[in-house]
Amino acid sequence: MKNDFPILIAEDNAVSRKLMEKTLRQAGYAVVSAANGREAFKIFKERFFPIILTDWGMPEMDGLELCRAIRENPTEGYVFIFLITGRDSRKDIIVGLEAGADDYLTKPFDRSELIARLKTALRILELEKSLKDAYEKIRLLSITDKLTGCYNRTYMDEYLSREISRATRYLRPISLVMTDIDHFKRINDDYGHQAGDLILKNFVGWIKESLRNDVDWIARYGGEEFLIVLPETDFESAMWSAERLRKSVSENVTAYEDKDIRITASFGVVGFKPSAGNNTFPHESMIDKADKSLYQAKKEGRNRIRGQIFAV
Ligand SMILES: [Mg+2]
Repeated sequence: MKNDFPILIAEDNAVSRKLMEKTLRQAGYAVVSAANGREAFKIFKERFFPIILTDWGMPEMDGLELCRAIRENPTEGYVFIFLITGRDSRKDIIVGLEAGADDYLTKPFDRSELIARLKTALRILELEKSLKDAYEKIRLLSITDKLTGCYNRTYMDEYLSREISRATRYLRPISLVMTDIDHFKRINDDYGHQAGDLILKNFVGWIKESLRNDVDWIARYGGEEFLIVLPETDFESAMWSAERLRKSVSENVTAYEDKDIRITASFGVVGFKPSAGNNTFPHESMIDKADKSLYQAKKEGRNRIRGQIFAV
């Protein structure tokens, strides 16, 4: 039985090192070992280990120094450190714990004690993992629009400025498309809010189908208005994308009860190509331009696209 918590061993004595490796592998742990603290720390910097078993007395870098080095910088997760030592005076134990060890084992180590102590480490690491999973679930909920499953305003506010700053920094084009379902109020009035909700969900689904996975993203701006972010996309390509979206929305049908509901949407595009010497600017002004183009598309009859190039 293999578990998800690999162990890094630091031990200068080859015989005890081999014995520890064997014991741990038999107990189902993946093990990597090093002949001293410095070597162990080098391995650790390249690959994270949630459990470290370290000898105290070693050349180059001893167990206490290794504990301190690990604790000095933040790591991707908690590292449970066992200090293995021949010393078992109270004073030595305190020194070890103060250096950052979580527990200690005295030499010569007893196999069943080692395995039992490791189980206490696993309980803590598993608790940490379940907290992380719960946190990730909450984080996803907090940035997702509950009805449509796309990003919400919170996400948009946080990430749009980052996207625009990145584009500005690396002189990459970026475009925004603001879109709004035409006469949405009428749908709610004619068919009821359940139909309206279904249309919002379908609308987002149709748009997502046309976007590039992991690059483009869509967030609900409010009501039936959505913002689509197209990184690495210049104005002309964004206009083409918007046309593809417009066409897809107008051709798709939502079946509700015994009716087929058709909708159209209007689009406002703004494209930005940063040039050298520009500093980051507030993303609100780009949203504002997209919004104005959308308003123009509405005014000129809906089911159409209007756009402009953003100039700083
Ligand atoms: Mg030693």
